[in-house]
Amino acid sequence: MKRLLVIGYGMTAHRLVAELRSRDRAGRWRILVLGEEPYAAYNRIALADRLRGVPAGKLTLAAQDDPLVELRTRTRAAAIDRAAHEVVTAAGERLPYDALVLATGAVPARPPLPGAELRGCYVYRTLEDVNAIRAAAKPAPEAVVVGGGLLGLETAEALHRHLGVRPHVVEAAPHLMPAQLDRAAAEILSAGLRRTGLRLHEDMPLRSVDASPDGTVAGVTLADETRIRTRLVVFTAGTRPRDDLAAAAGLPRGERGGYLVDADCRTPDPDIWAIGDCAAVEGRRTGTVAPGYAMATRVATHLTGTPAPAPPRPPAEPSTVLKLPGVDVASLGNPHATTPGAIELTYTSPAPTPRYAKLILDPDAHTLRAAILLGHPRAHPRLEALMGRELPSSAEQLLA
Ligand SMILES: Cc1cc2nc3c(=O)[nH]c(=O)nc-3n(C[C@H](O)[C@H](O)[C@H](O)COP(=O)(O)OP(=O)(O)OC[C@H]3O[C@@H](n4cnc5c(N)ncnc54)[C@H](O)[C@@H]3O)c2cc1C
Repeated sequence: MKRLLVIGYGMTAHRLVAELRSRDRAGRWRILVLGEEPYAAYNRIALADRLRGVPAGKLTLAAQDDPLVELRTRTRAAAIDRAAHEVVTAAGERLPYDALVLATGAVPARPPLPGAELRGCYVYRTLEDVNAIRAAAKPAPEAVVVGGGLLGLETAEALHRHLGVRPHVVEAAPHLMPAQLDRAAAEILSAGLRRTGLRLHEDMPLRSVDASPDGTVAGVTLADETRIRTRLVVFTAGTRPRDDLAAAAGLPRGERGGYLVDADCRTPDPDIWAIGDCAAVEGRRTGTVAPGYAMATRVATHLTGTPAPAPPRPPAEPSTVLKLPGVDVASLGNPHATTPGAIELTYTSPAPTPRYAKLILDPDAHTLRAAILLGHPRAHPRLEALMGRELPSSAEQLLA
C-alpha cells in the first residue's frame, strides 16, 4: 500500500481526501493529513458567520470515518526531507511518504507599519482569529478595519450589525473593492454602506497604529493626520501564499510566491504536488476555493490513474460576490483589463434604489469578458454562464 501525506488540513485538503477515496476503489493509498489548527477542516468562506455568532462546529466540513484516512490536528509540518521521502513535524516526528501534497493555504498580510504588531491588532483567516476578534470586540465601541475589499467589508458589517461595534473602514485605493469595481459602482456601494452606519475612509492610507502606555492599541493615524481612537484593529488587506517549506526543501516558488507547479499541480519533484492557495500553477496563484477544488480533483485523478475531468487551470479572474444583507454586488472577470477596442456598456438607475450594471465585451461585441453588477442578484448566475462565450442575443438586449 502507498502512503499519501497531505500537509495542511483546510478546504482543498478536505476535498482531495474525498476525491481520492471516491476514486481509489482498490484501497491502494493510505492517507495521513497534518493540520496545525486545533480544528478539523472547516468552511473558511463562512467565517463571517462565526463572527456573527454561529457556533464554530457548524462550519466543520464533514469527514467520514475511514480506516484508510488519518486526520491529525495541532500538528505542524516543519520540514520536508526529500532525499528520505519524509516530512518532519514541529515535534520532530519523521513521517514517510510516497506522494506528498502541499495544501498549506495562505497567510494574511500585515502592513509593514509602525504598531501593526501591537496587542489589539488582528488578522482574519482562521477560526482562532475570529474567536479572538469576537472576544476583543465586546468592550470596544469603535474598531478600525484596514482594507476595503471583500473581506474588510464583510468584517465591518459583522462587527457593526452583530457585535455592536462602530467600525471605520480604511482603504488606501481611491475607492472600495478596487480590484472588482469601477468608480461608479463603488460610489453607489459606499453611499449604501454609509447609510448603514459604516464610516469609510477611501483614498486614505493608514500611517500608523498607535500604542497606549500599556503597549496595547490606542488608536490609528491616517495619512491626513486624522486620529481614530480604538482598541481593535483588523487587517484584511490581502494574503500571500504559505510556501515557507519551499526554501529548505529546494522547491521553486512562483514570482509572486506559492509553490511553483505545472498544469497538473506537480512540483519539479515528481512525488510532490501543491494545491489551493499555496500553489502557483504555471506561476499563477489564486485565492479562491473553486480553483483549489479543481486542483484537488486533478491530483486525485493522477494518483489513482483515473481519467481527468476539466483542466485545473484557474480562471485569471474568478467571479466575486459581496455577501452582505441587502447589498448585492457581483464582479465577473477583470473589469480593469484593457483590451484594445473593448466595448463597455453601462446601465444606471438612480435613487431611491440605485442600481448599476456594466458589461465589457470583445471588440466584436459578441463575447462577454467582464461585468459589474450592483443590485441585480438574479442576473449574476446568468451572466457567469455566458462569460467568454458567444452571446445568445445582442449585448444591449442582455443589459436591458
Ligand atoms: C473570511 C474569508 C472569506 C472567504 N470568502 C471566500 C469566498 O467567498 N469565495 C471563495 O472562493 N474564497 C473565499 N475565501 C478564500 C478561501 O477560504 C480559500 O481560497 C480556501 O480556504 C483555500 O483553501 P486551502 O486548502 O488552499 O487553504 P486553507 O483553507 O487556508 O487551509 C490551509 C491549512 O493548512 C494549514 N497549514 C499551513 N501550513 C501548515 C503546516 N506547515 N503544517 C500543518 N498545517 C499547515 C493551515 O493552518 C490551514 O488550516 C475566503 C477566505 C476567508 C479568510
